Amino acid sequence: MFGKFLFKKNKNSKKKYDTKKVLQKKQIVIENIKIDVELKNIKNINLKVDRTSRKVSISAPKNADMNYLRKFAASKLDWIQKQQLKIIINTPKIQKEYLTGETHYFLGKTYSLEVIESTERPKIYFTPDRIIMQIPFGSVSEQREKFLYELYRVQLKRILPDLISKWEKVINVKIDDYGIKRMKTKWGTCNRNAKRIWLNLELAKKPIEVIEYIIVHELVHLLERYHNKRFYDFMSLFLPGWKQFKEELNKYN
Ligand SMILES: [Zn+2]
Repeated sequence: MFGKFLFKKNKNSKKKYDTKKVLQKKQIVIENIKIDVELKNIKNINLKVDRTSRKVSISAPKNADMNYLRKFAASKLDWIQKQQLKIIINTPKIQKEYLTGETHYFLGKTYSLEVIESTERPKIYFTPDRIIMQIPFGSVSEQREKFLYELYRVQLKRILPDLISKWEKVINVKIDDYGIKRMKTKWGTCNRNAKRIWLNLELAKKPIEVIEYIIVHELVHLLERYHNKRFYDFMSLFLPGWKQFKEELNKYN
């Protein structure tokens, strides 16, 4: 005990500065992402994405150059967006239990889940305001989730071909194939060589315009591979309201 105490005392007495104290607060905005900057008595730059609020913050040495920090943050943009997406996509799964009365989304509309345990053949379908899920007794939430996502997949497959061909015409590109899968860090991907796009099954929960935004985003990748100015100019040309839709991606979980 004594040794521990001594060690602690020595360590503290060596510390000249309080590294936790925020000396100055600033803010950087990069592509609509606000980043709080806290200047402290520290040596390194730390970038953080909060696990619940998804807020991005940087702590940096007190003399840090803001232009440098801006460049640093810009270079980490992909990482930041990946972290934020991870939180958005993975958080709701923990909360949902797939019990009667629970709220679920389809195309941005709210449905109340009704679970019927039955010895009859499993089935799942929509009514105007409910999702009726008839399943065997004793099913666990993972099985219920899987069942609901099968419904989402069937429904998405019905609506996607029309949406894709609508935007192919507008953008004047053509894909050979599309697929739907659950992805942890992306809403969609585009394979330029195979001319194939993948869309996240989670999109079934979002309003049509938001799904269209992702389709447009992936199709624009056929014109421009990188998320650069040219890419965003195309986005604004084909879908002027895309920023709004992008923000709506975070809702309807
Ligand atoms: Zn992209």
